[in-house]
Amino acid sequence: MDDFLFNVANNFCLDGDILDVFKYGNGLINNTYLVITSKEKYIIQRINKYVFKKPEELMENVYLVTKYIIEKKGNTLEIIKTKDNKLFCLLNNCYFRCYKMKNDYQSFEYLDNENRAYEVGVVIGEFQYLLSDFDFSKLNITIPFFHDLRHRYIDLIKSFRNNKDIKIKNEVKEIICYYLKEYHNIMLLPNLIENEMIKKRVCHYDTKLNNFLFSKRSGNCLIDLDTVMPGCSLYDFGDCARVIITNVDEDDNNSKVLINKNVFINLCLGYLSIGKNYLNNLEISLLVQSIKVITLELSAEDTSDWKNV
Ligand code: ATP
Ligand code: MG
Repeated sequence: MDDFLFNVANNFCLDGDILDVFKYGNGLINNTYLVITSKEKYIIQRINKYVFKKPEELMENVYLVTKYIIEKKGNTLEIIKTKDNKLFCLLNNCYFRCYKMKNDYQSFEYLDNENRAYEVGVVIGEFQYLLSDFDFSKLNITIPFFHDLRHRYIDLIKSFRNNKDIKIKNEVKEIICYYLKEYHNIMLLPNLIENEMIKKRVCHYDTKLNNFLFSKRSGNCLIDLDTVMPGCSLYDFGDCARVIITNVDEDDNNSKVLINKNVFINLCLGYLSIGKNYLNNLEISLLVQSIKVITLELSAEDTSDWKNV
């Protein structure tokens, strides 16, 4: 066993003797390790400090949200504190945190069947429902303007205007025109939130399929809470739908994108089975549009590549 990883694990209040620590899972952002003790299993993660500039604030958010869900008897990540009662430890200038390992769970990179979409919808609904009366102003804004399409749109237009490379400008002209035409969709959610027609809520902000764990025995849940911040219900619904209702990877440039209607219907039915208890009519009426809005947002993200040209 790696001595450094043993030392990291030894900082946390673990039950039993540490027997092994090794790399685990397919996470892209953080470094994830599985810790096996004589009594339990735990997950340790080195937080990616290039993506998350304020790991302390991030962990405060995760702590507040998981505590609230657990108090309401919901299923979520369980933080294991350090021996000196902190949410993370700092070793070799790296931030590490620890969770109880969830056993007997399955996770998927792609939907294994159309009915799974119903379960996904229920999980998003339960997450939002359990947190529907949480005071979101307690949460730190760890990534400013994360899903603020208006902000991204202004950035996109500015980058286009400031870019001196005529060749690049010609290449992206058509895309920029498309964005100008979609102005009403771009302004939709930020304006509705600002005018309080859509409630601000706790938002997960990373509802891709592999952040859901499924278990017949222990219930399903959403993990990877690094981006929880105030937002709106439609960000999480739209982002999840965007990925699971299509037949191609999100970075696939070549394939023809097809929509699976059954997956969409199942996702909506699952989501609304819980959502009917807390969503307002406007939120429900915008489910389909939210998918377009989030897709527009995430395709505007690539501008960073040509900002520096
Ligand atoms: P991403 O690429 O989604 O940003 P990440 O690097 O932030 O990933 P996580 O999604 O938090 O990492 O975790 C990576 C993987 O580790 C998960 O997909 C899951 O399989 C596993 N995992 C994380 N936490 C737990 C847990 N508490 N119990 C069981 N498995 C877990
Ligand atoms: Mg993840």
